[in-house]
Amino acid sequence: MRDLPYYSFKHRDYTIEGYSRGAVQTYWRIPEFNLGFDLGAQPWSFMGTPNWFVSHSHMDHLAALPQYVTRRRMMKMSPPTIYLPKEAKVPVEQLLFQWQRLDRGHLPCTLVPIEPDMEIAVSRNILVKTFLAKHTINAMSFVVYQVKTKLKPEYLCLTGEQIRDLRQSGVEITYEVRTPLVAYSGDTRLDILLQYPDFLSAQVLIAEMTFISLEHPLATIHKYGHSDLADFVSIKDEFKNEAIIASHFSTRYTGKQIENQVDKYLPGRLGGRLKLFI
Ligand SMILES: [Zn+2]
Ligand SMILES: [Zn+2]
Repeated sequence: MRDLPYYSFKHRDYTIEGYSRGAVQTYWRIPEFNLGFDLGAQPWSFMGTPNWFVSHSHMDHLAALPQYVTRRRMMKMSPPTIYLPKEAKVPVEQLLFQWQRLDRGHLPCTLVPIEPDMEIAVSRNILVKTFLAKHTINAMSFVVYQVKTKLKPEYLCLTGEQIRDLRQSGVEITYEVRTPLVAYSGDTRLDILLQYPDFLSAQVLIAEMTFISLEHPLATIHKYGHSDLADFVSIKDEFKNEAIIASHFSTRYTGKQIENQVDKYLPGRLGGRLKLFI
């Protein structure tokens, strides 16, 4: 059976899988972290991922939600958890209710309303933070962090027994180290991300590049809450990321046009770090 298209990019010890084309469909997941972003469509093979973060409620980022939920039920998997913008929760509940009537099948899932500046623990060592994006409707961007607890340096020389005693006496002997692993822009003006340093220092940045400066003035693109190749050019020295995945290209462009334009304005593709998922 042929599945929906998606790219697979292995980086360090995790994999970014997904595909995005503006106004068509957007879906990303990191199977090792048990989480995904956006449900514009749902490749059959993505079904096993149980936690999804919806950046905003445009159809190309959300339309596959009922299908995904019903597939998991059909395959006897646990009900998934969907984190979605708080204003979308009630309409999505109503939508699922109507689908249950049409399909005559249950759609078991947990819908968790989210807003910017939240921290959500997906597992003991994986945390997702939400950030305000700038789009035509309320939208969010996300950063996935690895969380590690370390012993404070002043206690490193203690024995196991001494550490246990200190802990039992209520002394805080550890501190938390957070490493930004993957940042996902969702649909947004790119310049907004400059406020959030972790987007530019995450190991991998998945960013939208809807336009490539062929015919739209930048002010119009920003008014519609999108990014252009020109935005990437203007902050090209700010990216500290090990890899930058650009996607969500408008369907008005062919793959060749996108590649040519990127190579013209960002020769070398940011030292080879910029990947085009067209
Ligand atoms: Zn979109
Ligand atoms: Zn959108």
